[in-house]
Amino acid sequence: MEFRDLKTQYQVLKPQIDKAIQTVLNEGQFIMGRQVQELEQTLADYVGVKHCITCANGTDALYMVLMAWDIKAGDAVFVPDFTFFATAEVVSLIGATPLFIDVDPDTFNMDPVKLEGAIKEVLKEGRYKPRAIIPVDLFGLPANYPEIETIAEKYKLLILEDGAQGFGGQIGNRRACSFGHAATTSFFPAKPLGCYGDGGAVFTDDDELANKIRSIRVHGKGSSRYDNVRIGLNSRLDTLQAAILQVKFQAFVEYELDNVNKVARSYTEKLKNKVKTPVIPDGYYSSWAQYTIQLENKEQRDALQEKLREQGIPTMIYYPKPMHRQQAFSNIICQKSDCSTTESLCERVLSLPIHPYLDEDDVERICRVILDNR
Ligand SMILES: *Cc1c(COP(=O)(O)O)cnc(C)c1O
Repeated sequence: MEFRDLKTQYQVLKPQIDKAIQTVLNEGQFIMGRQVQELEQTLADYVGVKHCITCANGTDALYMVLMAWDIKAGDAVFVPDFTFFATAEVVSLIGATPLFIDVDPDTFNMDPVKLEGAIKEVLKEGRYKPRAIIPVDLFGLPANYPEIETIAEKYKLLILEDGAQGFGGQIGNRRACSFGHAATTSFFPAKPLGCYGDGGAVFTDDDELANKIRSIRVHGKGSSRYDNVRIGLNSRLDTLQAAILQVKFQAFVEYELDNVNKVARSYTEKLKNKVKTPVIPDGYYSSWAQYTIQLENKEQRDALQEKLREQGIPTMIYYPKPMHRQQAFSNIICQKSDCSTTESLCERVLSLPIHPYLDEDDVERICRVILDNR
C-alpha cells in the first residue's frame, strides 16, 4: 500500500500524460512554452482570480510575494506554529521575523484569537513592525479567512494565503488560493494537485502585484529580457510540468477531488467513535492533502503507528516539531505566545494514507487495524 499513490494515478492518466509530454518534446519550447500560459489561464479561472503566475516551487511563490511587498528587516510576519518549515523559512530568508501563532485543535489551522493577541503584543512591545499574516490551509482545509480578514483589516496587515496543501478547498463558494491579498500553491508531486517535479504558483487580483511577480520570476525583467528593473530570481515552471499539470487538472476537477472526499468520509464514518477525526467546519470543503487523526498521547500514537507498520500500512507524522522549536529559528527573540496546542498536536497526530485512488477495501483494512488496537 502507498501513502499517496502516484503510480496508480499515472497508469490511469498514462495515454494523455505521455501525449502531452511528447507534444512538448515535438514543439521544443521548454521554457515558457504555450502550455505555461494556458495552464495559468485555466487555474486563474478555476480559482476565481485575475492572475495566476506559475513558478519553480511553492517556496519561491511565497518568497516572491514577500519580495514584491518589500517585506524586510524589522518587519513581523505572523505564521502558524504548526506547518511545513517553508512557510516561516521565507520570512527569515527575506530578513524579516516570523512570529509563531498557535493553531486550533480541531482544524489544525491558525487560531484567530491568538493571532490578534500576538499582534497586540508586538505593537505594545514596539520592536517589530507588523506587516503580514501567512495563514496556511493545512492538510487541505482552508484557514479561518472570515476571522483573519477582519483582524487584518483592523490592523492594516497584508494576508498571504499559503495554499500549498489547500488547492481545491473551499469556504462557501470561494475557492482556496483566492483568499487574502495574494495566495500561493505548490505542485510538488504529493500535494493535492502535483506535477512530476517541483512547481508552484502565485494567485492574486492585484494587477500591480502580478506585474511585479512576473518581473521577479525572470531576473527582475523590465520591458524586454535584457532590461532589468529590479533584483529578481530565476523561478519559472517548466513547460513539461505545465503540460503534465494540464492533464492532471482535468482529472482533479472531474473526479479526484470527489474521490478523495469519499475516502475521507469513509474514514471518519468508521473511526469517529474511537479516535479524534479531522473536523471540517460548516461551509468548508477540504482537498485532503492529509487525513490526520489525533491519539490521546505520544505513547498511544507511536504504538499505533508501529502496529500499522507491521501490517504494511504506511503512516506519517505531520508534524513532529513546532516551528518555534526548530533550531533554525533559535535566534528569534519572539514574544512568548502560548503554543501549547501545537506542542500537544506534535505528540499526538498521525496521518493515514489518503489519495483519490485508495479503494474502500484498503480503507476498511486500515480502519480495522486502528479499531483493533483501541
Ligand atoms: C509543500 C509546502 C510548501 C513548499 O512548497 P514547495 O513546492 O515544496 O517549495 C510551503 N508551505 C506548505 C504549507 C507546504 O506544505
